[in-house]
Amino acid sequence: MKLKSLEISGFKSFADKTKIEFKPGMTGIVGPNGSGKSNIIEAIRWVMGEQSAKGLRGEKMQDVIFGGTSKRSPLNRAEVTIVFDNSDHYLKTDFTEIRISRRLYRSGESNYLINGQDVRLRDIVELFMDTGLGRESFSIISQGRVEAIFNSKAEDRRTIIEEVAGVYKYKQNKERAQKELKQTQENLDRVEDILQEVA
Ligand code: ATP
Repeated sequence: MKLKSLEISGFKSFADKTKIEFKPGMTGIVGPNGSGKSNIIEAIRWVMGEQSAKGLRGEKMQDVIFGGTSKRSPLNRAEVTIVFDNSDHYLKTDFTEIRISRRLYRSGESNYLINGQDVRLRDIVELFMDTGLGRESFSIISQGRVEAIFNSKAEDRRTIIEEVAGVYKYKQNKERAQKELKQTQENLDRVEDILQEVA
C-alpha cells in the first residue's frame, strides 16, 4: 500500500484547494517557519479520524477550518482527501485505490467518505486497525512524542509495542469474548436457580 496523494481545502493555512502527489521513494517537505509543513501532517491525521482538537493545536475542532487572514475572509468548510494505492490489498478491502475524505462545517456538521460513500468514523478506524496506520498509530510521530514514549510507564510502553506488533486487536477481542462468557455464565446460573426452584 502506498500513499498516493493528499488534497487539502479550507484546512488551516490551506484556504485554496492544494493537491500533493507522493511519488515513489522518500518525500521531504521543506519551507520557512510557519509556512504550513505541520499543517500537512495534521491534515493526514485529521482525515484518518483524529478526534482531539488539542492534538491538532486547537481549542475546538472548528479551529481547523481556515480562519482568514488580513487579506482573506474565513471559510466555512474544511475538507481533506487522502488517496492510497491498495493494489496489494494491504488494507482488507476489494478496492485497489482508496479515497478517504473528511469534511467539517462551521455549524459543526461533519462527514466521512470512503470512495465517495458516506461512512461512520468507526469504519475508518476499523479499516486502519492494526495496519500501523490510523489516528493512534506510530507511523506519525510528532515533535515531543518520542520523548513522551520514552518517559511513559512500562505498561503503557507495552501497549505501544502490542499495537505496533498487531496483537492489540486480538487482546481487545479476547477481553470482549471474556466479558460475553462471564455474562453467559451468569445467565446459566440464573437458569439453574430457576430450574431448582421449579423442581
Ligand atoms: P515550523 O517550521 O515553525 O514548525 P510549519 O511550517 O510547520 O512551521 P505550521 O505550524 O504548519 O508551519 O503552520 C502555521 C501557520 O498556519 C501559521 O501561520 C498559522 O497562522 C496558520 N494557521 C493555523 N491554523 C489556521 C487556520 N485555522 N486558519 C488560517 N491559518 C491557520
